Amino acid sequence: MILVTNNEGRPGVGHSAQLLSGGESGLNALEAGIRIVEIDESIRTVGRGGWPNLIGEMQLDASVMDGNTLRTGAVGAIQGFLHPVSIARQVMERLPHELLVGPGAERFGREIGAEQGDNLIEDSKRVWNEWFEGVPEELRKNWKDAPLIDLCRQAIDPEAVRDTTTFLCLDSQNGVHGAVSTAGWGWKYPGRLGDSPVIGAGMYADSRYGACACTGAGEMAIRCGTSRTVVTYMKMGMSVEKAVYEAIEDMRALKGGLLNRITIHAIDNRGQHKVVAVNGTPSNHYWLWEEGDAEPHAVSAEIVPLSDH
Ligand code: ASP
Repeated sequence: MILVTNNEGRPGVGHSAQLLSGGESGLNALEAGIRIVEIDESIRTVGRGGWPNLIGEMQLDASVMDGNTLRTGAVGAIQGFLHPVSIARQVMERLPHELLVGPGAERFGREIGAEQGDNLIEDSKRVWNEWFEGVPEELRKNWKDAPLIDLCRQAIDPEAVRDTTTFLCLDSQNGVHGAVSTAGWGWKYPGRLGDSPVIGAGMYADSRYGACACTGAGEMAIRCGTSRTVVTYMKMGMSVEKAVYEAIEDMRALKGGLLNRITIHAIDNRGQHKVVAVNGTPSNHYWLWEEGDAEPHAVSAEIVPLSDH
């Protein structure tokens, strides 16, 4: 068994590890851990406490994948719910679909009785208001219809080394599973989906080979199909380490667009793992729990600059 979460998994990783070591199914263990992260206001990039989009709204993304069946469930740009990961799980369990976005996802959330709540905390509101004060007055005067294209280029990641939360595991039944939840990039264009709800970009799991999940600039993972690609490289016989390096090679072909930092987390179905922070900093770390460990521990990610050949 193995459990790998990114840095933001801190509040929930211990609970997931406990459940896994008690023989709980992987998806239950991952969902339970992510729910703790989503509700923790000190985690500023996931769920409650995350950063809003350009117009000050909290739009959240999440996904789950069952590596035994290759069923997935995802929600994108969903507003007003405390646990997007659980709604994503129910998309998988209860619908013949894999991805719901916006008002449709919210309707589904209400239909299944998912917990509703305001995810925009006072501090995020304060930081957004301070930013809004700096928006040119002619735009602020007619804010409802203001053109956002130029402002969107200021889309930022207010916390350079923090991001989405990603959880990957190999469970006691040899199932490889993944789950992801995020508030996405702060100040994003309304309706922008990151890589997290895009299966194959921000996350992919296949119990025959392994799983992968990304954090950071989701646009890069979408363009390269990074998570699916890493799993495919493992299928083709590469080690988990080689598969991640190969996916980084693919990223070197990206020209233009949002090129920034991205961290690739991967495990294989024998319990090996690799985490590389592309364009990362020494503070990039992840959480690791392996069968027999009393508790998860933090490990530094390998850093690879994208410009290196
Ligand atoms: N990957 C996420 C996104 O692009 C954000 C992050 O992990 O920082 O929405």
